[in-house]
Amino acid sequence: MIFSLNEFLRSNKCFKLICGAGNYDISSVEKLVYLYSKAGCNLFDISADIDIINAAKSGLKKADIVENRFLCVSVGLSGDYHFNKYFINQNKCNKCGICSKVCLENAIENFSIDEKKCIGCGKCFEICKNNAFLKTPFFADIKQILPLLNNLNIDCIELHSSNSNNHDTFNIWKYISENYKGVLSFCIDRLNYGNNSLIKRTKKMLSIRKPYTTIIQTDGSPISGGINDYQSTLQAVALSDIILKEKLPAYVIASGGTNEKTFELAHQCNIDINGVAVGSYARYIVKDYLSGKMDFDTALNIASKLVNSIKMRNS
Ligand code: SF4
Ligand code: SF4
Repeated sequence: MIFSLNEFLRSNKCFKLICGAGNYDISSVEKLVYLYSKAGCNLFDISADIDIINAAKSGLKKADIVENRFLCVSVGLSGDYHFNKYFINQNKCNKCGICSKVCLENAIENFSIDEKKCIGCGKCFEICKNNAFLKTPFFADIKQILPLLNNLNIDCIELHSSNSNNHDTFNIWKYISENYKGVLSFCIDRLNYGNNSLIKRTKKMLSIRKPYTTIIQTDGSPISGGINDYQSTLQAVALSDIILKEKLPAYVIASGGTNEKTFELAHQCNIDINGVAVGSYARYIVKDYLSGKMDFDTALNIASKLVNSIKMRNS
């Protein structure tokens, strides 16, 4: 049966693939969407860029599955870590090569960063002993891109606002809410907030939304995935529990450090999340397919195992 995203979330557990809010690599996005659509993924999170939206649509078309495949475009505010790009100051770099080994996106080659692939995770910055990395904000103007997202019938817009500026965040959220008819998603994490202030912030965001038209994406350990263990996903599950206990009229999708263990852990703890969004780990396990070193069928098996770790739980 074909649902709208809203209808789908009401009765299904959702697997969401995060292609990367900062991923502007057209070929990688098309391949990821094609592969994960074939694997059973429903929701695809992409960056706010027409070429990337077209690449995702092309991936969906190629997979040729029209039922319950939805696009979510990520937009961000200043200060959110998802919307940074890193560069190497060649005057400070001693060519040790350590940074390229920690980059899960294969964005560093020959001591230089491919801007299109860099998702701003900062792992390279943290490991460099020479302080050779420079960070710069990189995000689309929401007011400029919103008409395009409406025209293209994008199913969902996700707002990243990992900052301490409640006033600006609420105003832009209100603007999007008033000018967009689809599902809205709002990412929350505990970098700047304790539990109580986070709940207060979330309730305020939901106060202007119709019931069950919003996804709360609970980012446990922002941009720190890539590992398939319980510890990496623990914070995402714990934050989901905090939000779910409030019984808010919204869907809760766990993210940040998520992997094959996320749904299992939530299930064991009786935490009834609506889905899991997987980014770094989902991309990392098929990185050889993205670079052309792995055949499609092998990659499909790997991706299907991850998607099924969540979707097998559909009741
Ligand atoms: S870790 Fe720092 S010094 Fe080493 S290659 Fe990377 S940028 Fe250069
Ligand atoms: S490690 Fe992260 S921040 Fe550094 S280049 Fe790779 S994706 Fe960009």
